[in-house]
Amino acid sequence: MIIVKVGGSEGINYDAVCDDIAQLISDRQRLILVHGGSSLTNEVSEALGHPPQFVTSPSGYTSRLTDKRTLEIFQMVYCGQMNKGIVERLQQRGVNAIGLSGMDGRLWEGKRKKAIRAVENGKKRIIRNNYTGRVEKVDTGLLETLLDCGYVPVLTPPAISYEGEAINVDGDRASAATAAALRATDLLILSNIPGVLSDFPDESSLVHYIGSTEIDDISENFAQGRMRIKLLGAKEALEAGVQRVVIGDARGANPIMRALDGQGTVLQ
Ligand code: ADP
Repeated sequence: MIIVKVGGSEGINYDAVCDDIAQLISDRQRLILVHGGSSLTNEVSEALGHPPQFVTSPSGYTSRLTDKRTLEIFQMVYCGQMNKGIVERLQQRGVNAIGLSGMDGRLWEGKRKKAIRAVENGKKRIIRNNYTGRVEKVDTGLLETLLDCGYVPVLTPPAISYEGEAINVDGDRASAATAAALRATDLLILSNIPGVLSDFPDESSLVHYIGSTEIDDISENFAQGRMRIKLLGAKEALEAGVQRVVIGDARGANPIMRALDGQGTVLQ
């Protein structure tokens, strides 16, 4: 079983991702795809007059400030255009993809964080009216049933809170929780960079390998912004028994095959 997470940054080649999935499915590989949609969400938010806002937690993790209106726009993009666009591409390649958000069938459940701590210009503040959380439970039964019936699940945030509200969750960590729950061998986290860069944005500074005990150090010393969350997801997956995480590039041809071949940053 492999879990592929493809991000939502500019430059990602979804056709190439879907070409590889079609090849792997015809080779009888069990696979689930998780996707993002951040850059299109930013674009649509601007167009709808509700510009995106981001917050940084005291521990240095950046995330989207998700009020009710942001959540509506988020769902339009992630569950709408992004999810159905990927399902359509896979169907065109003969893959019987089924697109689900984490709310459907309570696939991804977690606690809503009603108040979050943020740091702004060196000052701490509490933000309320926030619809975010973290996936704590994965309905593996639903996923196994779909896979056993020949469907390829295409999953996207939001998840669902225990009270039944939509919550924005980080896709990298949600894919790590999914990989852990399904005892996947590999988790591939694909984005618009060659992997973890020791001198971001210099692409020749790729870190080829990170041992599980080195993740925190690398994260503190090299990673900024969103890369830190990917490393946290990678660490959580490895701690939960996933054998290998690869952070790889989804801009060119054969992004999944290249990651499976160890191209990118391999974490073990
Ligand atoms: P996606 O939505 O595709 O998953 P993210 O925006 O979440 O992508 O994360 C990838 C981004 O992380 C890169 O585009 C880059 O701007 C940023 N980043 C920060 N630090 C690093 C680093 N050390 N190495 C690589 N990328 C980094």
